[in-house]
Amino acid sequence: MAMQCPECHKFTSVGEVEVALSNVQANGDLVTGDVEVTLKCAHCSADFAQQEFPVEMAASCCDAPDLQTQDEDAEPYEGEMNTGTEKKPKLAASYGADVKVGVHCIHCETYFDLEDRVESVLSEYEPLA
Ligand SMILES: [Zn+2]
Ligand SMILES: [Zn+2]
Repeated sequence: MAMQCPECHKFTSVGEVEVALSNVQANGDLVTGDVEVTLKCAHCSADFAQQEFPVEMAASCCDAPDLQTQDEDAEPYEGEMNTGTEKKPKLAASYGADVKVGVHCIHCETYFDLEDRVESVLSEYEPLA
């Protein structure tokens, strides 16, 4: 499926994928944040679609995790999602991000990474007109 680019007005495919992670917070055993994924036109590189995903990751390092975040990272992800059913699979290209947050649990004194992947198909992205 194609979307029309607001810049060059061509029905285009996705070129570069840009991701930005923000509002990363730790609260007890939970780390939350927002990742904004921006899809760029394969033809002229203008931003043409965007979606913001909430991220929520839980730790299970001990019986009462008390997390502090150390560092955070998000990388663009491109893959495929089944938009059909289990019996009639229909694969569509999906775009999103791989999120990784390094945390320190001050209760059990361990350091580790929490990871999550967010993705959705192009038709669920908000077009930027
Ligand atoms: Zn374009
Ligand atoms: Zn812990």
